[in-house]
Amino acid sequence: MICAIVEGSGEKDGAENKLARFIFVIYQTSIDSAPLGTIVYLCKFSSATRLLRLFVASSLIFLSCLLYAQQPFLSEAQWTEIRDETSGVAPYENLRLLTRLHRVPATPEFDQAADFMLARAKEYGLQDAHAEQFPIDGKIHYGLMRSYMAWHVESANLWELAPEHTLLGDWATDPIRLADYSHSAAVDAVLVDVGAGTSEADYTGKDVRGKIVLADGSLATVQSLAVMEHGASGIVSDMPNQTTAWSGLDTTIVRWGHLDALLSNGFAFMVSRGTATALRAQLAAGHPLLLSANVKAEVTPGHWTVVTATIPGTDPHAGEVVYSCHLDHQRPGANDNGSGCVTIMESARVLNRLIASGKLPRPARTLRFIWGPEVEGTMAFLSAHPDIRKSLRADVHMDMVGGDPYKNKSILHVTETPWSLPSFVTDVGELFAEAIRDGATVYAEDGSHVEAAVVEDRNGVPGTRNEFLADRTPYSDGSDHDDYDSSTIAVPSLYLRDWPDIYIHTDHDTLQQIDPTKLRRVAVLGAASGYTYAYADGGKTTSWLAFFAARAQRRLAAGFERAHGLAQDSQLPPKEAWYEARNLMTQMLRREQAELRSFSAYTQRDAGDVATFSKDLDAQAATLNGWLDHIAAERGTHDFPAQAPWHGDPDAARVPARIGEFGPLNFQNDDVLLDRLGSERVAKIKLLQGGSNRLLRVQDRGTLYAYEIVNFVDGKRSVGEIRDAVAAEFGPIPVDVVADYLKACEEAKIVVFR
Ligand SMILES: [Zn+2]
Repeated sequence: MICAIVEGSGEKDGAENKLARFIFVIYQTSIDSAPLGTIVYLCKFSSATRLLRLFVASSLIFLSCLLYAQQPFLSEAQWTEIRDETSGVAPYENLRLLTRLHRVPATPEFDQAADFMLARAKEYGLQDAHAEQFPIDGKIHYGLMRSYMAWHVESANLWELAPEHTLLGDWATDPIRLADYSHSAAVDAVLVDVGAGTSEADYTGKDVRGKIVLADGSLATVQSLAVMEHGASGIVSDMPNQTTAWSGLDTTIVRWGHLDALLSNGFAFMVSRGTATALRAQLAAGHPLLLSANVKAEVTPGHWTVVTATIPGTDPHAGEVVYSCHLDHQRPGANDNGSGCVTIMESARVLNRLIASGKLPRPARTLRFIWGPEVEGTMAFLSAHPDIRKSLRADVHMDMVGGDPYKNKSILHVTETPWSLPSFVTDVGELFAEAIRDGATVYAEDGSHVEAAVVEDRNGVPGTRNEFLADRTPYSDGSDHDDYDSSTIAVPSLYLRDWPDIYIHTDHDTLQQIDPTKLRRVAVLGAASGYTYAYADGGKTTSWLAFFAARAQRRLAAGFERAHGLAQDSQLPPKEAWYEARNLMTQMLRREQAELRSFSAYTQRDAGDVATFSKDLDAQAATLNGWLDHIAAERGTHDFPAQAPWHGDPDAARVPARIGEFGPLNFQNDDVLLDRLGSERVAKIKLLQGGSNRLLRVQDRGTLYAYEIVNFVDGKRSVGEIRDAVAAEFGPIPVDVVADYLKACEEAKIVVFR
């Protein structure tokens, strides 16, 4: 590809400059996706002839940029077929139905949502479309995960009886007002303000027995203290939404709340911050508030429902590519996660139609689509189908993908797999995201090339003409991809997510925040990525490896900036700083080389193809290490230590191996260490609680470290080597903290030491 940087020389805002700026934008937007050997061509111009020449050149440049936007993974014809078939309005209309259902897992309305998705899957012509039910009772396990409970609500409302007679919440019209897993009650009682309600001190000098408490602390904690210990009958809560820069600005938002389904008592009604503030003011002024709460609801054993369907591949032994999402959450739950459900459905519709009509060749691998409750449905399904679990090769996971960024403040993140599972899948998704982003940027700026922008305003559909605010980010936890990416499942995920979203888990997460253009773009991105994973074979190994290797070089160079910062970190002694910086380079190099090998393994090609590219990465890392050595010398340190600092520590030399059931240690409603060891023991785990100052940086991301420490356990790496791996990924961490965490895992019978 040839791209040009042009410097205008005419007067300010003259035609030349406008054109020059336009071409510069093209250059900027295309260079990210430029293959190796991009030629940057500089020219100056001033005359009309040159302007004309420039115009012709710019058209060619633009054509070539768009033409190659989806390469090397798809041909232009394939990309165009996928793009043109994909609709923003079909998922938008499907979402309209989902947002009318309060989709708490293991409830009748969740099953209605599942029925709807199943009907759509059949209507769209997917194969083997069916629903499966998995029994739950709080004891049955699926893999490592303990099941949870079902919930059935007949009716619920909360009235203020005095001084006013006012309705504060009614399940029939606005189910988010009743916290999940509320129990039956019929009580007229006064309201008592207990502040946060999450510590003993909040109850000192207050008699809450038989009364209703007003609290804004974590709901399950308030339940166990106020209801279970102090005998309150229920809770009115304005527990705040997730923390973002916009938190608290809108006081009309009502948050979705959950009680602990395993506690036998209590109910909670959710009110807005504005309502709660008014109630508090009345209580503070000495005006008693009499409320009447009526709840008919039961927490019982029940079932989770999971819907699945496929587009069969040509080779039943080639494995499967899975599309995942989660169908649950409160009404409306438009972005979280109605959007992910309808968007994988749209990717499914598009691929099925194009494959069935012969416009796309049928890929070797089967495409599977799964809709179920978050994390829990994934674990139940994978547990019931060990054959499918073993056949899965890659995952496209969508959780919040439809937000209009100018409304919910979100950016669409293409999220990397964790360092424990290096994979080419992220690079594939990133390239397609860039292709759409670049087209959208040009269209937003000058109104041209609307097809490349993938907007959805065809036939009066209300999609925006926004830019596509998308980027690539490191691994982040919090959805079903945590399961797929974990070491005992090991299916690399392309995790697509809007973040932040200022309306997540509230009554404001409505269809009004959703952009049909965004849905269409992500459906294209998902369809193109999954199709690429499904058909990828060894035929194009070299050109694809060159692409991945070029991106690897870019990441190594960018990663050097972090290593540079570590080498100069004044909080670390010079020798330690040097070690951490070099360790980071070593681990980054390993990760990039493993990514190349992941592609060879995926396509079952001779790993020898990787050798050349791998060697070039070695050379690049050696250069960067040399630079680090200079920095160390400046700090007065010479002779890089032959042994790791933890060498000689007997705990660091031990080698852990996984035993027992599959899965990570944390789930939606289950924490395996807490379950098996109890809260007292867990409170003593250094990684998760207390400790020295040096640990503070680590504890902020304690759960991420914990997730990866367990993932790096493979029966070969020692504790010290696992420390080095997570230290590179998230930041330096003392080896004894890693050893201490793994000791707890040993006690919980998740690992054994060899
Ligand atoms: Zn979600």
